[in-house]
Amino acid sequence: MSTSLGRAVDALNAPVAVAGEIDLILLNGKIITVSADDAIIEAVAVRGGKIAAVGTTQEIRALTGANTRVIDLGGKCVTPGLVDSHIHILYYGEQFREGLLDIRFPKARSKEELLRLVEMRGKETPKGEWITGNQGFTMGIDNTLTRFELDAVAPHHPVYLRHFSGQFAVVNTLALQEAGIDRKTPDPYGGKIGRDATSGEPNGLLFHYPAENLVGRRAYGIRSEADRLTAVREGQRRALATGYTSAQDVIVMRQEDIDTYRKLARESGLKMRLYIMQYLHSEQQALKLLPQVQRFKDEWLTFGGWKLAVDGGPGAGTSLMYDRTLRAANRSYVYHDQSTLDRIVFQAHKTGLQVAFHATGDRAIDMAINAVEAALNASPRENHRHRIEHLQFPTRQALERMKRLGMVVSTSPQWIRFHADGYRQMTNDVTMEGSFPLRTMMEMGIPIAFGCDVPATIMIEPKWALLGAVTRTTRSGYTPAPEQRISIRDALRMHTLGSAYASFEEHIKGSIEPGKVADMVVWSHDVYTASSDELAELRALTTIVGGNIVHE
Ligand SMILES: [Zn+2]
Repeated sequence: MSTSLGRAVDALNAPVAVAGEIDLILLNGKIITVSADDAIIEAVAVRGGKIAAVGTTQEIRALTGANTRVIDLGGKCVTPGLVDSHIHILYYGEQFREGLLDIRFPKARSKEELLRLVEMRGKETPKGEWITGNQGFTMGIDNTLTRFELDAVAPHHPVYLRHFSGQFAVVNTLALQEAGIDRKTPDPYGGKIGRDATSGEPNGLLFHYPAENLVGRRAYGIRSEADRLTAVREGQRRALATGYTSAQDVIVMRQEDIDTYRKLARESGLKMRLYIMQYLHSEQQALKLLPQVQRFKDEWLTFGGWKLAVDGGPGAGTSLMYDRTLRAANRSYVYHDQSTLDRIVFQAHKTGLQVAFHATGDRAIDMAINAVEAALNASPRENHRHRIEHLQFPTRQALERMKRLGMVVSTSPQWIRFHADGYRQMTNDVTMEGSFPLRTMMEMGIPIAFGCDVPATIMIEPKWALLGAVTRTTRSGYTPAPEQRISIRDALRMHTLGSAYASFEEHIKGSIEPGKVADMVVWSHDVYTASSDELAELRALTTIVGGNIVHE
């Protein structure tokens, strides 16, 4: 067996295989490898969780052993498992916890629907108990909700509702009282308590995590380890079912969240590969946390580094833009001033790990780049791959600086499809022409990764990223900067190898080539030839991680 296998693999110009029987063979497919020459092949053999050989059906069939599982694809399309560069597996899984009011799209599509859901929940909830929504509501561009409207439909229950973006929450008067927030309560560092312009009374709006958490901690209650394990399993199950085989969880808030992931990894409970980044709230917390970092790295779970937020998002009005008159920016404020940001980033950079910035507006993006530039000037380092998440509205100059500094972009083109109409109303046509400049960045050679960002995105499926990148068209037909469209081949490459690059893993995953991990997806449609209407119907039929079928 080993001799004939060795010959077959050699014939395919692959690394010489170690002895042992092939575990799994896929035959008769259209297998998109995303190799350097974008080869499309018919068959693949897997051994010990890795790709052992690729080739024609005839070549690979010859490797079948007594215990080899053989799957005839019947012409179906296979791609490398998709790598999500920006997701929140644990927090996404928590959205499905029993007891939370489901306000996610499409349950509530307008303020009226949202208020009706709250009112109905109030009728079946004992007075005084919390009404807590999952993450979260979308009301299009209507951001007029305040505590008074919630009071009108739920006068006897504290209510906590978070926007789907996670960038702000709206609570009612009882919830403010429970949390002890009144006109004298100062804004927490990095957060803002919304207030009436004349009276200074809190209006029920809470911006960004530090302010949201003042109430959210009470509303969500204490989570046990069992709750967290259930949440990761649920988030993972949903991600695998849509074709992601690796995910970068870019906000891990607490040590207990890291412990949960590590426990699952130890107990073989991880079915997908995870790369996690810990969130830095403030300089004070960073200085305490950074020296105690516990590094770990293997095929299943890697501690990747640090995450910082520089601004909020256009939907919350908290994108940090130079033009503050834009609705996307009219509630914006600076989370960390530039010199504080520089100091935090320098310390994080000095750990030798990666730093990721949440930055949506042009000014926030520039601040992130300034901090990276300063850190690199003070402490040069090759191949740092410091990255900016989202990057909705970069200037051309920002792209040039990112290229020069070796920075990575991790973005969500599904937002073009879902939100470009709203972004347009919150900005203007000129701003939109510069949004999500995928083709420009690709042609400049800036590494690009894709991530869905659930629960801060209404849909999890990766097809929306592919469609957003390829068509740049919303459901209403608006197409900002059509010249920034990219091909499906380039979009798939960004969502596989590109995202693997964002976590320093392009040498072990992201393409179907001998020696790489055997992470693959069998699709309902041919990804390369499907029309946009067909792409919208794309489903993952089978998801394979390390040669094991984890979704079918
Ligand atoms: Zn996110």
